[in-house]
Order: sequence, then structure tokens, then C-alpha cells
Amino acid sequence: MVSGKFLFSITLCLGSLFLFSCNNGSQQSKSADSTQKKAVVNTMVPGTPIHYDSSKRYIFLTWDDSPQPPGTQNCARTFREQGVKATFFSVAAHYNIDPLRKRILDSLKKAYPEFLVANHSYTHAFRDNYNFYYTHIDSAVNDILKAQQDMQIPLKIVRLPGRNTWAGNGEFRGPKTSEKVAGRLDSLGYKIIGWDIEWQFIKGNIPKQSATALAKDVNDKFDIGYTNQPNTMVILAHDRMFAKQQYVDSLKTFIQLLKLDPRNVFETIDHYPIVQQK
Ligand SMILES: [Zn+2]
Repeated sequence: MVSGKFLFSITLCLGSLFLFSCNNGSQQSKSADSTQKKAVVNTMVPGTPIHYDSSKRYIFLTWDDSPQPPGTQNCARTFREQGVKATFFSVAAHYNIDPLRKRILDSLKKAYPEFLVANHSYTHAFRDNYNFYYTHIDSAVNDILKAQQDMQIPLKIVRLPGRNTWAGNGEFRGPKTSEKVAGRLDSLGYKIIGWDIEWQFIKGNIPKQSATALAKDVNDKFDIGYTNQPNTMVILAHDRMFAKQQYVDSLKTFIQLLKLDPRNVFETIDHYPIVQQK
């Protein structure tokens, strides 16, 4: 009997023959014209700009605090099964806890263009000590630069710990307390990514909204244009919320509800407008 996962892999491979080049696709690449060869290379490089289609709505699933097993693996598996792209904003202190967490994050890093790993600091604001973090600018910036190097993050994309802040190219939007740290990172070429909607949690890791309520919120905010950038929606959640199967099921339902609208496209955060602007 052939498993569903295997069939999915085969379907994905066939469907993306010329776009992503399967492992055994060297013959096809040789016969492809130069334009197709260029597409094969570019789609595999993080940060290569995409062209926006104004008839589409772009959804960026951005999950924070990875690696946090088993939530991180559950989310990655669910995203794969659903065929959607996602971004993992990762914490270097979590990455360095043990070899298992290192393996988890390293496998996510290899999974581009499906997944992108981005920077969520080294210590998560000295273990959620936000007031101290954002008033000690040098320490905070160094914490983020150290995480970038330690996890070998491919692009300068950061989500600040505990702050819904957007910044890049000299522009800033977010809590005043984070302005100096964001400004310093901006001057170093970083793009700081906030969020439009959060899948909130209670008691540390239990999803607060139902999948149905959250999907309705996404659709409503798209409809009224209540997003940081037009036709784009950055959704925040945390890997640890999906440790239990019932919540993994909620995540699956949420994605399936979003996929019902053919306008919805799932992208990694390197393709968010302010990140694509140089
Ligand atoms: Zn966080």
C-alpha cells in the first residue's frame, strides 16, 4: 500500500518538475531552455523577489520561538501536508539546548522554499525581561546579531521579542519603547517584521481562538483592508501551541478554511513587501 505522504511527495515532485527541479531532474534541466534554468535556480534562493498578483491575497504564517518540540515538528508536518509555506522565527538559546533542537532547526533551514528560518533573538529579551532589553540598546542589538551568526540565518529579517514592531528602509511603526533598537537594526540593513493578527494563547500554550473564529478574523481584516500592507496578512502564532493533537487538528482546520478562498496564497516572509524593497 502506498502511503498518503508518499503520494503527496510524488505529486509535489511532478507538479514542480520545472520550477524546483527534483533530485533526479538533471535530464529535464538539461533540456530546459535558459529561462527555465534561471527559474530553477532563483526559486531556491531565499530573498529572491516574487511578483505580486493584485487579484491574490498573500498570507504569511509566521510562527515564533522555535525550536520547541514537539510543537515545531507538528507544525512543519501540518504545513507540509497542507502544502503551505511558513516562516519560523527562531531563538538561538532554544536552538542550543540540545542536539534534537539543533536537528529540528537545521532541517527547517534546508526546507526552503517551503520554510524560511528567521531571527527572533538569542535570549528572547533576556528571558522576557522586555523593559531592561529595550532600554539597553547595545545589549539588545548584540543579542540579535549573535543569534543571526549562531543560527546562520540566511537573511536579515527579525521579529523583536515581545514587540509588534515594523521597521526597515528608515521607516518605523510600533511601540515607542522598541524604536531605538529597531532603528539600529534598520541601519544595519535588517527588516523588522510585526504581525497583523495573532493566534493568541492562554495558560502558556493553549490556543485561545477557535480555528473558525481566527479564519473569520483573517477574512474580515482582508475585506476591510486592515493590514500593515495592502493585500498581505502576517499571522503570528507560537510552535508550542501545537504540541497536542487536538490543537494540531485546529491548525489543520484553520489552513483548510483559508485555502477555501482561491485568492489566498501562502508565502514566506522574505517575500513580504518591505523585505523585498532594497
Ligand atoms: Zn517570542
